[in-house]
Amino acid sequence: MKKKDLLLKIYERLLNHFGHRNWWPGDTKWEIIIGAILTQNVSWKNVEKAILNLKNARCFEPADIYRAPLEEIAELIRPSRYYNMKAKKLKAMAGHIIEKYQGNVDAFLKREKGLENLRKEVLSIWGIGPETADSILLYAGELPTFVVDAYTKRIFSRLGLLSETAGYDEMRSFFMNNLPPDRELFNDYHAQIVALGHNICKNVPRCEICPLKEI
Ligand code: SF4
Repeated sequence: MKKKDLLLKIYERLLNHFGHRNWWPGDTKWEIIIGAILTQNVSWKNVEKAILNLKNARCFEPADIYRAPLEEIAELIRPSRYYNMKAKKLKAMAGHIIEKYQGNVDAFLKREKGLENLRKEVLSIWGIGPETADSILLYAGELPTFVVDAYTKRIFSRLGLLSETAGYDEMRSFFMNNLPPDRELFNDYHAQIVALGHNICKNVPRCEICPLKEI
């Protein structure tokens, strides 16, 4: 079977099993950006608490975060773990949007810049790695870039489709070269992978209940 057909078959099985995941939670593009930065190495519940703290303190919009002292942001996002580092990242992102785009998130994520140019720009912001950058571009920017994570590597190496030593860009290219550039598909495919990795293809895989067991 061609890789493209196999990847689509895997998606179809995951979709039938978990249903559409309706990602990404967040009312605005800026909230999605904040969530993408805060979610690294922590559960989403903790991210929600941190976002709520920022909102309640009226320290949420790019201009608020740009102006607030680093220690204040860190304290508000304490539930998200690694809060000192994440506060620095939030301030770097807010600083980029304020200084270059007068706080206009739509202008920052303007699609006309082209996916790869915009990706380079997002990656140039202090502390933003490829997984966060692609999450921002896909879920806030609505651009067809594929997000890969530790679950992706674990599942697709167990399926024999990726090497256990594959790096981020190699994994991303594998999906982007073998799937149609469809942002809706990329959006839900990543969400399905997270659902499988979180619930079934864990450190100790539960193959007996896996929708991919025949594959
Ligand atoms: S749970 Fe088992 S069958 Fe399912 S993807 Fe992981 S290793 Fe494969």
